[in-house]
Formats: sequence, structure tokens, C-alpha cells
Amino acid sequence: MDTLPSSFSQGAGPPGLHSSRWAPTSSQSLTKQIVVASVVSIVALAIVCGLGLSSLRRLSLQNDAEMAQRLALLDESEVFQLLLYQKGFAVDFMFTGDERWLHELDQGRREFADWLTQADRTADTTEERRLLERIRRDYRQLDEEHTAMIASFRRGADQEVRLQHQRIYTQLNDLVRLSEEFVRTSSVQARHERAVAQRTLRRDTALLLSSSLLGMVTSLLVGFLVARRVARPIYELQLQVASAAQRIRIEVPPGRAGFEALGEHMGAILRKIEETDAAIAEQRRLLIQSEKMSAIGEVSAKLAHEILNPLTGIKAAVQLVARSQPQHPDDSPTAKALSDTAQLVSQEIARVEQLIRRMLTYARPLAPRLAPCSVDSLLAMSIEASRQACAQAEVRIDQREPPSLPQVMVDPMLLVQALSNLLVNAAQASPPGGTVVLEPSIRPYEGKPMLALRVLDEGLGIADSVAPHLFQPFYTTKPRGNGLGLALSQNIAREHGGIILAQNRSGQRGAEFTLLLPLHAVGSTQARPESDSTERA
Ligand code: ADP
Repeated sequence: MDTLPSSFSQGAGPPGLHSSRWAPTSSQSLTKQIVVASVVSIVALAIVCGLGLSSLRRLSLQNDAEMAQRLALLDESEVFQLLLYQKGFAVDFMFTGDERWLHELDQGRREFADWLTQADRTADTTEERRLLERIRRDYRQLDEEHTAMIASFRRGADQEVRLQHQRIYTQLNDLVRLSEEFVRTSSVQARHERAVAQRTLRRDTALLLSSSLLGMVTSLLVGFLVARRVARPIYELQLQVASAAQRIRIEVPPGRAGFEALGEHMGAILRKIEETDAAIAEQRRLLIQSEKMSAIGEVSAKLAHEILNPLTGIKAAVQLVARSQPQHPDDSPTAKALSDTAQLVSQEIARVEQLIRRMLTYARPLAPRLAPCSVDSLLAMSIEASRQACAQAEVRIDQREPPSLPQVMVDPMLLVQALSNLLVNAAQASPPGGTVVLEPSIRPYEGKPMLALRVLDEGLGIADSVAPHLFQPFYTTKPRGNGLGLALSQNIAREHGGIILAQNRSGQRGAEFTLLLPLHAVGSTQARPESDSTERA
């Protein structure tokens, strides 16, 4: 199982299994973040509310100022003064003849025109505008009457001046009344507007305050609910992660990295499960195959026995025929041919017999009966067993003098079979007149001392195409071979805890087969009577 960096295991988890303390901590930090977010939003709302209140206050002050200005404009005495003074300036001019009074009159005219303009700007209602229109019209007439009276005075038309003065008096009274009415109407309107503005202001302030308060409460409530609804499941999930991590004995870092680490671990576990599944499937397939092979082996063994029995009878009969024919030189050609054929059939039967016996040996479990044997006697028996094949191939066996070798614990019959197979192969591979060397020695193999029995020939060596199939059963390149010799020999070597190695000779033509046997076996294994193994011959 992979482990995560050690920093995760130091103090981050509970004693023993590393992972339950961080889970609530991480969830608490989430809760803390939610609380902070709520507080921040409340503060933000408070700031917005404060800004709104201050701008409402500014608006109220501005309204008050405008209202004060408007009420000042509606000061009755001011308007009357502006009107009365104009008549006074005209009369003063006529009494004194001083032109400066006319300048004063012009100044008074301009001031009244300004008043009219400002009153126009503040007039909201139709009534106010109607009254102002009448004031403007009547004032125009009054002003024209002033101009006409001054002109009459300059001409010396006293009678006309008196009449005009009389009309001015009446017009002025009307105008003053009109102005009074305008001031009254406009004041009522201004006061009404001020009351409405103040009411609106109060309502806006209340609305702002209540909505801010509502926002703050909502933010608190949402924060609380989110903390409950979101943080709690996360907290529970983290506890589950922690407990899962405990169960599969891994260390996971806190927070999101922990989820990812757990996911990776689970992925690795799943991959391992898949690999194991595949391996089990392969083993099952091999088991089925081996059961099939075992069944075939049993059937083959029975079949082989069934063949061997009649074959022995046939062999005996053929040998009888071969022997019963006259061997004299002047025998009839038919009798000679019959004898030759009987010999041939006998040889073929021997070959088939050998093949079947080999198959039987290969198919059966070997179960070697070990006994202490001298290497010398093993070599001698093997040479003897391969003598006929060597003679046929016209090859000589050169047995190198063995060094002083210890006894080995082997099944001699099996060992002789394996070694003689190698000698026969070497003889068959070598050219006529060649020499097969049999060289015993002791050498290490995989760190252990082994008895090495080397068989060197002078043949063509092992071809590249042959090498991968050398020890496969039924693989042969010989026209009359059966491909069981090396497979069987390798089985025998392995049953003894050894191995057969094959390679081409270095620096010389030919192949080199080495049968390696462990030396330590001597004395450590219970020897069984040698006679037991004869049945496998
Ligand atoms: P068989 O002798 O019936 O062919 P073996 O299992 O003994 O069966 O040998 C398998 C094959 O290995 C042979 O057919 C041959 O091609 C190859 N072989 C075995 N011994 C030698 C050798 N000494 N030199 C070259 N090839 C060899």
C-alpha cells in the first residue's frame, strides 16, 4: 500500500490511525468562513445604509434651503415695497425735477422684473401661474402709466398728470391685491410641498433603515442555514473519508487533497483487483488446460499399455519369423527378402516401443527415488546406455577424468536416462569419426555449488531457429526423432533440483549441453531402495 508524505501523518490525525482530527477542523474552518462572510455582508449593508441616510439628510437640508428661499421671495412687504417705491420715485421726480429719481425708478423696475422671474421659477400650480400672468400684465400697464405721467410732466400738462396719477393709484391698489393673493396662494403651496417632502423623507429613511435591517437579519439567517446545511454534510463526508482511510490503513491529508488522495488509493486498489482478477482467470485457464492434459495423459497411458501388450506379442512373432528363415547364402531370394523385412519390422517395432515408453515416462509424474551415487558410476552407466547410438553414428565418447567428486543424491535410472539422451543427441549431431566429450566438474550456479556434467559435440551447433524450441516436447528436426529426449531430460534435471543449459561451443564448432545438479542434496534426502526405480526403465 502506498503511503503519503510523512508531513500528513505528523500530528494531523488521531493517535494510531491518523485521520479523524483533521476532518472536523476542516469543517470548522468552513463554518468560520461562512460566519465571516455573513459578518462582512452585514457590515457592507450597514455602510450602504449609512451612505443612504447621509444622502437623504443632504436632500432634506437642500429642500429646507430651497423652501426658505422661496418663502423669503413670498415676503409680502418686499413685493409691496418694490411696487410702492416706483410710484414714489416718479412723484419725487415731479416734485424736485431731479433726474436721479428716475434712475431709482429704473432700478426699482429691474428689481421687480427679477422678482417676477424668480416667482415664475417657483410657481408650481396653474393658479400661481395664472396670478403671476395677471400681475405681469397689470404691472406692464402701471409701468406704462408711469412713463406716460413723466412724459406729461415734462410737457407741462398738469391736468393730464393729475388724471394719470389718479389711475396709477387705482392700478397700484389692484396690483397690490393681486400680489397679496399670489403670495398667499404660493405660501400655502410651499408649505404643502414642504410637508410632502418631509413626509417622503421620513418614509424613505424608514424604508432604508428597515430594508437594511432586514438584509442584515437575512444575511445572518442565510449564513446560519448554509453553515448547517453545507458544512454538516461536508463534515459527515470528511468523517466517512477519515474512517475509510482508517479501514484501508492509509494516511490522507486534510481537505480536498484528502479526497483526491483517497480517490487515487481507491483507483490503485481497483487496478490491483483487476490485475488479480486477470491473474486468477489465467490460472483458472491453465488449471483447466492442465486438467485436460492430465485426462489426456491418463487416456494416453492406458492406450500405450493397450498398444504395448500386443506389440510385445507381434515383436516376438516377427523375431521368430526372422530367426526361422534359413541363413545360408544359397537361400532362395524370397526367403532372404522375408528375413530382411522381418528384421526391418522388428526394428520399427522397437522404435515404436521406445517412443511409447518415452511418452509414458514423460506423461507420468517422475517421483524420483533418490539414492547416494558416485558420479563415476553415473557416467559409466550413461556411456553404456548410449553405446549403440554412438556406434551407429561412428562417434567416440571421450570421458574426461573426473576430479575427486562427492557422491550425489539422485535417482540413478532417471539420471542415466537424462545424461544418455544428451550423449545420444551429441553423437547424432557429430560427423562420423567425431568425438563427444563428457566432462564432469564442480561449478557455482546461482550462488550454489553444482555438479556440472558437460556434453560437447562436433556437430553444426544449435541453429537460431531451433534454440527457442529446444526443450519443448515433440519438437524435433530429425526425420525419425520424436522430440521427447530433451523435454524428458529437463524434467528429470528439475525433479532433482537441477537444470540443463544449452549453448553453442565458444571458439569451436558444435553444441554444449550441461546437466547441473545440486551438491548439497547428498545426505539431506531420505534415500529409497534403488530396486524401486527399476520399474520406470
Ligand atoms: P529428438 O532427438 O527426438 O529430436 P530431442 O528432444 O532429444 O528430440 O531433441 C530435440 C531437438 O533438439 C533435436 O531434433 C535437434 O534439432 C536439437 N538438438 C538436440 N541436441 C542437439 C545437439 N547436440 N546439437 C544440435 N541440435 C541438437
